[in-house]
Amino acid sequence: MNAQTILKKNDFKKCMEFHGHLCPGLSTGYRAAVEGMKYLKEHKRSVDEEIVAITETDACGADAIQVITGCTFGKGNFIYKDYGKTAFTFFSRKTGNGVRLALKHNTTNIPDSHFKLMGKIKNNTATSEERKEFYKNHEKKSMEVLEKPINDLFSIKEVSIPIPDKAIIEKSQVCKKCNEPVMPSKLNENKICRGCQECQS
Ligand SMILES: [Zn+2]
Ligand SMILES: [Zn+2]
Repeated sequence: MNAQTILKKNDFKKCMEFHGHLCPGLSTGYRAAVEGMKYLKEHKRSVDEEIVAITETDACGADAIQVITGCTFGKGNFIYKDYGKTAFTFFSRKTGNGVRLALKHNTTNIPDSHFKLMGKIKNNTATSEERKEFYKNHEKKSMEVLEKPINDLFSIKEVSIPIPDKAIIEKSQVCKKCNEPVMPSKLNENKICRGCQECQS
């Protein structure tokens, strides 16, 4: 699909609204999520926990995954693994099918100069010219990601791993130190919460 067409699509607009800006990372997550849903033959966002998504990055792309699949942190069907990889896995509890999409090496080819500019923008030392330059390139890269054939972007593999447990709902217990209600499984053997344990050390 043409990038301009995707930019006008409601689901993509929702991703941008949620994430806050257009960027190559968000576009990558969007492509992965749309492809993952297609693979699972799911046409609607997950209302409950029918779909499970695993993200191996906490960068921009993870936001598009939540918007498109309806797997969210709060529902417990959005699982974060701190691997530092742009890779996403999608499961259907209904069918047991799963697919993992991992970004191929050198697909987005972001030049060092772009990373340098990003650093300058982050620490507020970029001139207005440099800013303009950065956002122009950023948009260009986003478009490239939106248009690239899916198999050039990701390695796509069918996966079957044990389906993650559903979110547990426990009745709270009170921490002996701060008196705040806590999930019992997060208390230590002395019934002290993790927050209080951190303060002690
Ligand atoms: Zn971003
Ligand atoms: Zn406490």
